[in-house]
Amino acid sequence: MNKSEKVIAIAAAFTAAALTAMNVAFRIPEYTAVILVCFAISAAVLTLIAVVCIRHFTKERIIRDRENILRIMQSLNTMAILWDSDFRYIEANAELTKNIGYTSEDLADMKTLQKVLPPDAFAPSLQAIVNSRDEEFTVIAKGGAKVNTIWNTSIISSSESKNRQSCLMLSIGLDISETVRMKEDLIKYSKELAESENRYALSMGLSEIGLLLKEPGKSGYYISDQLMDMLGLNVSEISEGVLRARFHPSDIMTFNALQSAMVSHYSESGDSIHSTEFRLLSADNTYHWYQFRYKISPAETKLLANIGGAVIDVTKDKEKDSIIEKMAYIDDVTQIFNRNKFMQIGQETFECSRDADISYWVVVLDIDNFHIINDTCGYHNGNKLLAEFAAVIQNSVTEGGFGARIGGDNFALLIRDIGDDELPVRIIKKIQDNVKDLCAESFAVQTITCSAGYCKMSDGGSDFAQVLDRAEFSLSMSDGTKNSIIRYDNNIHDKIIAGTALENELAAAIENNEMVLYYQPKIDLSDGSLMGMEALIRWIKPDGTVVPPSQFIPVAESSMLITKISAFVLKEACRQNKEWQDKGYPPITVSINLTAVDFYQTDVKESIQRALDETGMDAEWLDVELTESLALKDIDHAVKQMEEIKALGVKLSMDDFGTGYSSLSYIQVLPITLLKLDRSFIMYLEEDEISREIVSAVIRIAKSKKIETIAEGIETIGQAEILKKSGCDLAQGYFFGKPMPADKFEEFMAMKAQQKISVTAESE
Ligand code: C2E
Ligand code: MG
Ligand code: MG
Repeated sequence: MNKSEKVIAIAAAFTAAALTAMNVAFRIPEYTAVILVCFAISAAVLTLIAVVCIRHFTKERIIRDRENILRIMQSLNTMAILWDSDFRYIEANAELTKNIGYTSEDLADMKTLQKVLPPDAFAPSLQAIVNSRDEEFTVIAKGGAKVNTIWNTSIISSSESKNRQSCLMLSIGLDISETVRMKEDLIKYSKELAESENRYALSMGLSEIGLLLKEPGKSGYYISDQLMDMLGLNVSEISEGVLRARFHPSDIMTFNALQSAMVSHYSESGDSIHSTEFRLLSADNTYHWYQFRYKISPAETKLLANIGGAVIDVTKDKEKDSIIEKMAYIDDVTQIFNRNKFMQIGQETFECSRDADISYWVVVLDIDNFHIINDTCGYHNGNKLLAEFAAVIQNSVTEGGFGARIGGDNFALLIRDIGDDELPVRIIKKIQDNVKDLCAESFAVQTITCSAGYCKMSDGGSDFAQVLDRAEFSLSMSDGTKNSIIRYDNNIHDKIIAGTALENELAAAIENNEMVLYYQPKIDLSDGSLMGMEALIRWIKPDGTVVPPSQFIPVAESSMLITKISAFVLKEACRQNKEWQDKGYPPITVSINLTAVDFYQTDVKESIQRALDETGMDAEWLDVELTESLALKDIDHAVKQMEEIKALGVKLSMDDFGTGYSSLSYIQVLPITLLKLDRSFIMYLEEDEISREIVSAVIRIAKSKKIETIAEGIETIGQAEILKKSGCDLAQGYFFGKPMPADKFEEFMAMKAQQKISVTAESE
């Protein structure tokens, strides 16, 4: 029998006893009062016992209930806390202890609890706590970490003692830190996204980059806001037809290519960036050039590709390009294409024709004796002739061909081969016929003629430069005959091969230091003293053979090896002269020879300055000899370069004056300090009256221009005396001393220095 059954049994026994006692009392009147009193006392005792029992049982039940709740709490995998509203009883489950680090005992201490809970957790009334479901607050864990939680609280039981109501509460909580963090991150990301989208939109706007995208599923093209602005459109999706209509008629092929790329490249990886350019009708109703840099990526349909990328307005760049192209590819004087363009088109043609079964003729033309015309009729008329000649060349361009001015008075034609080997000759003859009366009014007495060299592209050559070389080489074979026409053949080929062999040998010789400088004295005619020397290069082969410059300088010039030779000459001449000065010899000028290649294709001024700096020789002791033909090539450039060299303090001489068709008018234009009369003038001085007159006239004119004169190739005392009488300042020739190696020249200097001392001593 359990406790309640026992109570019920006692109550039932008591009730039965009471009823029996009352029955007896009513039957025996004299005991009624006594029995009632006893009954009342028993009832009171019984009531007391019942109350005590009920209290006892209630307490037991509460304890049992709590134990059950606590057991359930511990088994929960969320936080749970059982507490009474006075905070005198607090029981936390293991999950709560795990999350915030405090045990039930810790939390029973009010101070700890205040640390754990935020102040506002104590603020709401009990009812408010119970009513507000999902109450969120941050608790501070034992280590100080903030744990975001959410709670649901229910009243388990309530009791009232001393007019105070006390409740037992069960709060179930969840750690929502992760969720809160995610929420915060989400807010942050969306903020950042918004910012970056703003930034993106702003930068796209500022950079004026439009976007164009074609997705297979969509019928039209997506265009970004920027592109809409650029094209003056107000919808972000346009049909293929609208876009096609915007394309410049000449660029429709590009549009078609883009369209077909989507079909043919549907399986492309998407990594490579393609680029194309086209013109689109734009907002201002004119065509602008756009560059479309796009990627092709496979679409889900697996049949068509996505195609999309940036569209950039490159109109201004195109304009710049065309100016640059003009500067780089158009010849100033004739306004036709220049050598660079000819080489570029030529190479492209060479590569295309190699694959296809077609060939071209390359023709190079040279105006015969152009320098005479230029000289006798003036620079301005020379240019006029070049321009008119260029017009004839342009008119001779056949279908698929090309014409250009490739240098001074050299022009070139690219002629498509039509299977007729006589075609180039017919074209050249027609040109010769058309140019003969050019500038008739300016060159009344002269007929213009031109010579040509030509070759067939398919006849050999590893690239276009080589083909052009062959045509130019053929032209150079014309030996001065007017209106000559020479086709490249085996004979010429052999000569080139020999030249190439020499070129290779020369290149090796330069590397092996087989180049040596000889020095030839320059004498002051007034007193016979040594005033300078000309550095003349020699190639001394390992077997001791001395090769004169005439045999290798032309090859060096045509192969650019000359720049290496010139660099060596410049440095070695300065070094040697400085060494002699340092040894105490009276300082003299050293002259070096530079060629047109040095002058036009390198920065001569810079090379000279470097040589002076490196050797420590003063600029005043260097003299640069240039030939007139060099100045003839491009007089403006020549004058500019010469002025720059002169500004360094270096002297400038005009070499070989009198060869070819020299013009005294150059003396006025070119900033030279010394004029070198060529040996061809000097050779016949003694026997030829005219030579003497020419020489003295030239000396006179030069003097009037404050230019000194020097005669070269003096072999006899007679020549020296005539020149001295004519007022020539300086002399150079075998009569005074042949070109000699440095050690011999040093002896010569020593001898001259000794002579000077003796002469001075005699005169004293
Ligand atoms: P150039 O500058 O006119 O040099 C004078 C040439 O005439 C030298 O020939 C010299 O040896 C020769 N010569 C001097 N006096 C007489 C003489 O009395 N009689 C005869 N018959 N000849 C005389 P070289 O040294 O053979 O040089 C020939 C040309 O080669 C030079 O003519 C010059 O144009 C060029 N050259 C020489 N050295 C160099 C150099 O270092 N660089 C360049 N670019 N060219 C050079
Ligand atoms: Mg010279
Ligand atoms: Mg000379």
